[in-house]
Amino acid sequence: MIDFANLKESHKAHKEEIEEAVLRVCRNAQFIMGSEVESLEKELAEFVGGGYAVSCSSGSSALLLALMALGVKAGDEVITTPFTFIATAEMIALLGIKPVFVDISLEDYNLDCDLIEQEITPKTKAILAVSLYGQPPNLEKLEHICKERNLKLILDGAQSFGAEFLGRKDSTFGAIATTSFFPAKPLGCYGDGGAVFTQEESLAKKIASLRLHGEKSRYVHQFVGIGGRLDALQAAVLRIKLKYFAQDIAARNKVAKLYNHYLSSANVVIPRVLEGRSSVFAQYTLRVKNREKIQEKLKDSGIPSAIHYPLGLHLQECFAPLGYKKGDFPNTELASEEVLSLPMNPYLQESEIKEIAQVVQKVMES
Ligand SMILES: *Cc1c(COP(=O)(O)O)cnc(C)c1O
Repeated sequence: MIDFANLKESHKAHKEEIEEAVLRVCRNAQFIMGSEVESLEKELAEFVGGGYAVSCSSGSSALLLALMALGVKAGDEVITTPFTFIATAEMIALLGIKPVFVDISLEDYNLDCDLIEQEITPKTKAILAVSLYGQPPNLEKLEHICKERNLKLILDGAQSFGAEFLGRKDSTFGAIATTSFFPAKPLGCYGDGGAVFTQEESLAKKIASLRLHGEKSRYVHQFVGIGGRLDALQAAVLRIKLKYFAQDIAARNKVAKLYNHYLSSANVVIPRVLEGRSSVFAQYTLRVKNREKIQEKLKDSGIPSAIHYPLGLHLQECFAPLGYKKGDFPNTELASEEVLSLPMNPYLQESEIKEIAQVVQKVMES
């Protein structure tokens, strides 16, 4: 039986250290904020190569905090991708902001930068881009558009923590970048968690306050904020896992390379990492013509697979009031019909990768 994300193996890899760190928090009984959280934030900022990191309760709350900190508000518009996890557009809509979708490129499944400008209106305040499957979008082009049009760039890096664009961690791009530490993300904690990154001290302070109910000092509130803290227990776990995270990224890339190799003669579209970028391979996602049949055969062999994502956000019931219809975003719709994610984690063995690739290839040949 092959495991999709193999969280059990991930715990085993640093079991003693992690369990000791958790016990330390239990014994100190400093569960909210405190030194574990402060140290983690310093270590996260160091890991991405500078700026400020503010931890928070999830990747979703990180997005909410980013939009709130930048002052994007009800009635404004934010341009984003319809091919992502719901939270990206959901957090926009939750604030009464209108998500304006722009189709993806099939090269990297991220926003097609050439289609953005035509959607900018006087109400547009920001572009919320996503690093899907672990690979950043064209951040140079996005920063250029935002500068020219006086928009804020926010990067939803929930899947891409540790990925680089032109040699810089993607968390250092834009006005604000976010990430998620949901257990199955490349750097996962043992529950919910997230972080917000910025290069600006004043923004970092505002985000830190917003996640604590807009607190200025105890029971004195300067903003309407949220209860969005990261638990000290999660911070303690993350501090251990962060020490070994670079090795995990390398291992994920090695797995992806082996998949590419064993699938090279199969009639499938393998994922591409574009020039000047790196991926942390949150997912290893193919495009295939007969997805159902492949999923069935994989299942018969005890191999799990997943679809990220089966329906474009423009076609989700919750966004019906936005008035989009089928056919609006052809690349998103094609991708949602053809993408298939194979097991991806740092612990996959070459023999397992080969076995998975052979099942896929066999279906394609039949
Ligand atoms: C996982 C994910 C989120 C949400 O993160 P949570 O920590 O689960 O709230 C947001 N955006 C993208 C692209 C994600 O993959």
